[in-house]
Amino acid sequence: DAPTPAPKRARILALANQKGGVGKTTTTINLGTALAATGKRVLIVDNDPQGNASTGLGIGRTERGTGTYELLFGETTVEASVRGTSIPKLFVVTASADLSGAELELVELERREFRLRDALTSATADYDYILIDCPPALGLLTLNALAAADSVLVPLQCEFYALEGLSQLIRTIERVKRTFNPALEIQGVVLTMFDRRNNLSDMVAADVRGFFGEKVYETVIPRNVRVSEAPSHGKPVLLYDLKSAGAKAYIHLAGEVLKRERNRQSVHG
Ligand code: ADP
Ligand code: MG
Repeated sequence: DAPTPAPKRARILALANQKGGVGKTTTTINLGTALAATGKRVLIVDNDPQGNASTGLGIGRTERGTGTYELLFGETTVEASVRGTSIPKLFVVTASADLSGAELELVELERREFRLRDALTSATADYDYILIDCPPALGLLTLNALAAADSVLVPLQCEFYALEGLSQLIRTIERVKRTFNPALEIQGVVLTMFDRRNNLSDMVAADVRGFFGEKVYETVIPRNVRVSEAPSHGKPVLLYDLKSAGAKAYIHLAGEVLKRERNRQSVHG
């Protein structure tokens, strides 16, 4: 008898915003850690040539070996390239050095937008969540993430230009929906680096809520020095300083993400 295919289980979330420095990587690492702490099996795919998610999880540039590049080019599998982290149930496919060339090399390939989706298919039964950390661009690496994802999580920094460029991101998401991933949705928008001493942060938060409504998570990630220190120790802030405001906020955010997933399931059966 042919074995019956394993049922898909993982929900795949792409963390995307073409602006750099808005908190994509920080949110990927810490949301991933918080989800793993609730007992979920979580895979982080470092899809940014800068490899900050890999570094932030304690895997330095020289120790990375095969990773996302080889995955995109069909030279490895998730199973063969996945690495454990210092957090139980949290796994990572690191950004290999070659990933910086991938954006151009992908152009030549067949199914160039589907390479990541194809590669993740064999892993979806092994994880509850797959989080894809995107580069700060809307090129083929991000398109691969959006084509593979069930939903997008958009980190927005609480700064004056927070909403700038968002229409381009939304147009890209809409185009991906029309062309190769009709089920793609926005899981939510998370406000990051909120500074409660700064009126501007409140104004930006109000603006973003006016624009995105209920898509914006109630949880706001505060600007917190422990969050920015943690990556240089190769640790998520939840491990570096669990009592910090940043760690608490990410635990909260994970609760909201899980709640949205539960609500979605009860609607879609
Ligand atoms: P992106 O992946 O979107 O480029 P990062 O997650 O790397 O953004 O964040 C950019 C910088 O801001 C990093 O140096 C990170 O440590 C810092 N940072 C992110 N979130 C916070 C926060 N809540 N408080 C303080 N610093 C933060
Ligand atoms: Mg990043």
